[in-house]
Amino acid sequence: MTGSAYLLEANGVRLLVDCGLYQERELRARNWDPFPVSPQTIDAVLLTHAHLDHCGLLPKLVREGFAGRIYCTAPTYDIAQVILLDAAHLQEQDAEFKRKRHEREERKGPYPEIPLYTAKEATASFPRFSTLSYEEPVRISNGIKVTFHEAGHVLGASTVKVEISSNGDRRTLLFSGDVGRWNKPMLRDPTIFDEADYVLVESTYGDRLHEAQEDIEKILAFTINSTRKRGGNIVIPSFAFERAQEILYYLDKLLIENRIPRLLVFLDSPMATSITEIFERYPDLLDEEMKELLRRKRSPFDFPGLKITRTTEESKVINHIAGTVIIIAGSGMCTGGRIKHHLVNNISRGESTILFPGYQAVGTLGRQIVDGSKEVRILGQMYPVKARVVQMNGFSAHADRDELLRWLSGLKRPPLHIFVTHGEPEVASYFAGFLKEKTGWEISVPRYQDEVILD
Ligand SMILES: [Zn+2]
Repeated sequence: MTGSAYLLEANGVRLLVDCGLYQERELRARNWDPFPVSPQTIDAVLLTHAHLDHCGLLPKLVREGFAGRIYCTAPTYDIAQVILLDAAHLQEQDAEFKRKRHEREERKGPYPEIPLYTAKEATASFPRFSTLSYEEPVRISNGIKVTFHEAGHVLGASTVKVEISSNGDRRTLLFSGDVGRWNKPMLRDPTIFDEADYVLVESTYGDRLHEAQEDIEKILAFTINSTRKRGGNIVIPSFAFERAQEILYYLDKLLIENRIPRLLVFLDSPMATSITEIFERYPDLLDEEMKELLRRKRSPFDFPGLKITRTTEESKVINHIAGTVIIIAGSGMCTGGRIKHHLVNNISRGESTILFPGYQAVGTLGRQIVDGSKEVRILGQMYPVKARVVQMNGFSAHADRDELLRWLSGLKRPPLHIFVTHGEPEVASYFAGFLKEKTGWEISVPRYQDEVILD
């Protein structure tokens, strides 16, 4: 499901669409494998968006000889810098930690104790980026035209349309990237296309339907109000990109509508803070409502009571505040970051609530808590879980089954072929079957490193 990357060869040119990191535990070894094609032979990269599973191997690609341009939208470039640097720092810390541990235990681990790439190497990839505007076709090379379209997934995310002309023939390919959702706060809706010869469509949530949007506000308001009555804190483990900004947006809305009391809200994540600033830089790429708010200098990221904590000292002060506070911190699945300290201080307090606004992967601390563990290990110590645990699913940035169908429903004639990609294998094949039944189109689920000749 992660490690998104597609190589397209046409007119003697090699384009790579995305260059993502593998994040599943059992697939992570692939990050260390040599690229299946030599990076020197790739002419350009088209980057759909700044999530690590789409951009996370770019520093390695550049280090190993890629010398072309990396095309993406301006916010994707801004956010990719924050995200790649954070990933590099984590890898450096991790390598150092492992090196010390192996030294102590006098053994060797399965991987080299070096970072996949360093912060310096991540920075070295930045000058390769070139930003493109949405809806502006750009000629990448002989007979190859590329256009980025709003994908509605996260700020800057795109569906990439590639038009290839050769000997008077023209073919259009759509790379969905991650497809977002309609009527989401802040973001514009996904673009619907009326023609394509080939479509590569993601299938992350191709087997399920999301909760209705209005539930989010109700659950948030209820959770905050009931926790306050009990006198506890609301601790929200959140991804730094999109989810954190979305939560701020909803808190601001609930405050204005007087549905929650004025409380101190701590955004305790330097990365989320940097990305929030990037959101404010691109009002024109947000939906009408957000555009209007930002134009009137009424940013939902700047409400009374919101405190940004940059340093760890500021972060520690939060624990000494009496009365109910809301704490938003990373990482989103509690695998690292400042959230661990807030869990230590709240997880054994029956009056506090841990609110998960996102999916928790198997094997993470977040998943253990969501699954109802009575006791969990945090920072090397066991803590009984007494806080209330609330999981919300309505926040997803991915289209569900019917939204993916909606995304494809604009096509006026059947594409020559649809490739269902970027999902758990069972989900991808379920969605391919569902799509086939609904449309009768030619559909398949390619496997890792499959090659296909397109007519
Ligand atoms: Zn994504």
